[in-house]
Amino acid sequence: MKEILGSHVSFSKDKQLLGSVLEALSYHSNTFMFYTGAPQNTTRLPIDAELTSLAHNLMDKENINIENVIIHAPYIVNLANPKNYDFNVSFLKEEIRRAEQLGITKIVLHPGSHVGLGIEEGIKNIATSLNDIITSTQKPIICLETMAGKGSEVGSSLEELKAIIDKVELKSKIAVCIDTCHLHDAGYDLENFDDFLKNFDQVIGLEKLLVAHINDSKNEICSHKDRHENIGYGKIGFNIISKVVHHSLLKKVPKILETPYIGEGKDSNPPYLFEIEMLQNNKFNENLNLEVTSYYTDHKNK
Ligand code: FE
Ligand code: FE
Ligand code: ZN
Repeated sequence: MKEILGSHVSFSKDKQLLGSVLEALSYHSNTFMFYTGAPQNTTRLPIDAELTSLAHNLMDKENINIENVIIHAPYIVNLANPKNYDFNVSFLKEEIRRAEQLGITKIVLHPGSHVGLGIEEGIKNIATSLNDIITSTQKPIICLETMAGKGSEVGSSLEELKAIIDKVELKSKIAVCIDTCHLHDAGYDLENFDDFLKNFDQVIGLEKLLVAHINDSKNEICSHKDRHENIGYGKIGFNIISKVVHHSLLKKVPKILETPYIGEGKDSNPPYLFEIEMLQNNKFNENLNLEVTSYYTDHKNK
């Protein structure tokens, strides 16, 4: 049985969702995640209905379940900071509408950074904004991501995420996305992943775990750095990550790689085809770098 496993892909101006599906298929993915525009800005183009329907036909044919496909909200939207409140709220309302137009039911959101206001104030601001954003009739569920605790990030512990969820009125529209790199950098030992899930179930409830980001980490546990590494090449290691991917309690949870491209600048290539292969087969590839580079060099020469 294949796991529900894919990667971050791009969403281009000219091909939109159809381009994202094609890119995901090129990695042998059965799910994917994308930003509806650049992750670092909030310029967004209208959704093209024709491209969307072509994308849906292709997903049907290739057995990609749209319920497993994820939108990531841009990371510059900071709900913990009351500055830009109106813009943030209206942008995320629009993002929910775009997700609905695309047929996508899950949006991953970084809770935000409190920028010196303190965790409690941050949590309050996030919940207030979410209550202004979320409506009972919307289809997409907002999945708050577990953060590494870099700077003044809110949401680096399950208790902080729980505190936000507790303040959100429409609880069926709010859930959680775990990120293995962020959890490790925040101080969670993934070697005892069963214990982590038990803890998650006690604090938040496993039914709220709807998405998992699968990344290795460049740094030691509890480093609060948030620098992703290729699978098996970082401080978490292949065996622990593979156990997460194949965990029986996460069978239905879509898993998304956000690992770095291999190579420098414009010559760099995506590692996902090979990382997905090694995770699906539970077999570490010690030649990842070489195989990725030669695969895409061959591809470009054809
Ligand atoms: Fe993220
Ligand atoms: Fe992530
Ligand atoms: Zn990250």
